[in-house]
Amino acid sequence: MQTTDKIWMDGKLVDWDSAKIHILTHALHYGTAVFEGIRCYNTTKGAAVFRLKDHMVRFLNSAKFYLMKMPYNSKELCQAVKDTIRINKIKECYIRPIAFYTYGEMGLFPLKNPVSVAVAVWPWGTYLGEEGLKKGIRCKVSSWLRVDSRILPPQAKCSANYANSALAKIEALDCGYDEAILLNLNGHVSEGPGENIFIVKDSTLITPPTSSGALVGLTKDSVVEIAKDFGFACVERDLLRDELFTADEAFLTGTAAEVTPIREVDGRIIGNGSRGPITEKLQAKFFEIVKGEDDKYAKWLDLV
Ligand code: PMP
Repeated sequence: MQTTDKIWMDGKLVDWDSAKIHILTHALHYGTAVFEGIRCYNTTKGAAVFRLKDHMVRFLNSAKFYLMKMPYNSKELCQAVKDTIRINKIKECYIRPIAFYTYGEMGLFPLKNPVSVAVAVWPWGTYLGEEGLKKGIRCKVSSWLRVDSRILPPQAKCSANYANSALAKIEALDCGYDEAILLNLNGHVSEGPGENIFIVKDSTLITPPTSSGALVGLTKDSVVEIAKDFGFACVERDLLRDELFTADEAFLTGTAAEVTPIREVDGRIIGNGSRGPITEKLQAKFFEIVKGEDDKYAKWLDLV
């Protein structure tokens, strides 16, 4: 990864190489960390963070699932993000806030351990490749099922959930694909390891609901609003694997993946086998918006 100079740790900006934790940190052993993934773009008006406050709401909610007492409020966390971007003199970056049960007691009960919070920023280009954005990626329906809310709450962005994501990602890459698609315990399509999924059928966008176990994604929410503004119908409903194969278009959304077209699922060509026309339209508008080129959506940008 590309490094930067400073990381914000518990209220202080420390050198990148000094941002360390104890080996007996609770979260390292038991996955008791919650985090966010946010992006900052170089816009026409300067560096701006996309949907910063909404990400912080989700971050605080993730902490709540684990009864984690967050030592900072949303305003302080937003400020920490901006301070970290400014001190590193960076205009475009990925932002990783993380809160975790730290070193103190061992054993599974974490609540007696102090909570630490950090914010790191670094340059991170296209997550699924520049070519993927243009031509689409190849996905594999995973043999691993998405975590279910009776097992681990999928709406908490908890580190533990990402062990499930990592297994799916490893399997997909091992099989020569670019990304995984996870079904839920009912056999319905849920999401990617770190992305929401959409299909387009007869000019209507279809995406799985929250009850599928998919994270309530902010990129998804943005794309739905953009699509509705274009006049496309958007439906949230259970989605079958069969429908992936026969979709006119399909794409993934996420802070890291942005809007990435899917051109193949399990060896079946989707639509025209490249980026579909509706996907292209939504993707182009998304990139215009994050770069500050459409004032109609300026509400989503928080200038650094
Ligand atoms: N699902 C999962 C499991 C994720 O980790 C992410 C990334 N946060 C998403 C979906 C997409 O969410 P967002 O658009 O808010 O980044």
